Amino acid sequence: MTWPEGSTNAALFDRAQRVIPGGVNSPVRAFRSVGGTPYFVARAEGASVWDADGNEYLDLVQSYGAVIAGHAHPALVDAIQRAAALGSSYGAPTEGEVLLAEAICARVPSVEQVRLVSSGTEATMSAVRVARGHTGRRKVVKFAGNYHGHGDLLLAEAGTGMAALGLPGSAGVTEAAVADTVVAPYGIVPALDEETACVIVEPIAANMGLVVPHEGFLKALRVECDRVGALLILDEVITGFRVAVGGAQGRAGVTPDLTTFGKVIGGGLNIGAYGGRSDVMAQVAPLGPVYQAGTLSGNPLATAAGLAALDLLDEPAYDRMSAAAERLAGHLRSAFAAASIPVVVAQEASLVGLFLGPDAPTDYVTAQRTDTARYAAFFHAMLERGVALAPGAYEVMFPGLAHTHEVIDRIGAAAHEAATAIA
Ligand SMILES: *Cc1c(COP(=O)(O)O)cnc(C)c1O
Repeated sequence: MTWPEGSTNAALFDRAQRVIPGGVNSPVRAFRSVGGTPYFVARAEGASVWDADGNEYLDLVQSYGAVIAGHAHPALVDAIQRAAALGSSYGAPTEGEVLLAEAICARVPSVEQVRLVSSGTEATMSAVRVARGHTGRRKVVKFAGNYHGHGDLLLAEAGTGMAALGLPGSAGVTEAAVADTVVAPYGIVPALDEETACVIVEPIAANMGLVVPHEGFLKALRVECDRVGALLILDEVITGFRVAVGGAQGRAGVTPDLTTFGKVIGGGLNIGAYGGRSDVMAQVAPLGPVYQAGTLSGNPLATAAGLAALDLLDEPAYDRMSAAAERLAGHLRSAFAAASIPVVVAQEASLVGLFLGPDAPTDYVTAQRTDTARYAAFFHAMLERGVALAPGAYEVMFPGLAHTHEVIDRIGAAAHEAATAIA
């Protein structure tokens, strides 16, 4: 077999497709729904990424929200390098795990105890297991268009990459595996019964574009959970430490029983966490009978990077990111208005969602009315102008600490040209 020469995007994609399904290690990175060849990242710094062909893009993907301080932030690079020099994993507890757990508990009052895992998927799988163990019940309620990772149980009407590929569910997930999963429409409080172990919800839905629930939804969900004795799990894998110091739960004034985290808390390294009431967390082995484990859980590089990221996230940092997001949303609205293309641009804290249609979506059914063909055109028009959006219409944009007004204005100028070009 002969291999193509050079490490261009095209050559790498060709090689990747031979040895990796679809050439990507997560389907959201594929260009299937927008067409074309994915760019392969060679390096990144701040708001920019450079691909294998040497192109620079102002990046709004930011590892789907795992990166909040900008790429290769010096404080994170330093923390990771220092941790790596001390060894990368031991199979014994470390001070870094204690420090990160303390940092999470200190910032999110509902979290009295927390267990570190290696991904958001593991966090939600484990939280549901704990809720079932604690209540002795079987049913799990989730909302259509909310994504909670790719565990069998929660992989129904899951938005994000599945929406982009037009998949309602996944092959290989048996009916038995989802027999106790109930899928409800987002934004409406379902009537629960006493077989319900837990309700899991994205407090701000950010995997079907950006859908901010109406005021009172989460509070009413809390009341309904309490009525039947079910646990409320807030999936803050995206929103945790991104929308505010205390997460979306702090902004909404809702106290969940359990919360799941990921993305931001690892500073771009592999991590997840679940935590909550100490009497519920006491179910977890070795204290209690719910088993959950992990060879690389609480990895010292990830905890070092996560702590360095959380250190940067004070109130002024959140204000700056919200201002950047507001400015970005304003640019997008005026760009599409000038091109006479109907859009709804949602913005909540540092999250921005682009819906290509006239009416703001409120749930998964209405979110799927976004014009995906037009998104594909806009995506490529932006990429040609040096701005990287996610290659899927259901992803949100993640302006962070590296997105200065100057960067946002350059993105805005590109958006004006791109919207006009696709009109
Ligand atoms: C990304 C995400 C997950 C899954 O996290 P992974 O680290 O990709 O496994 C879970 N819940 C939400 C809300 C997410 O956005």
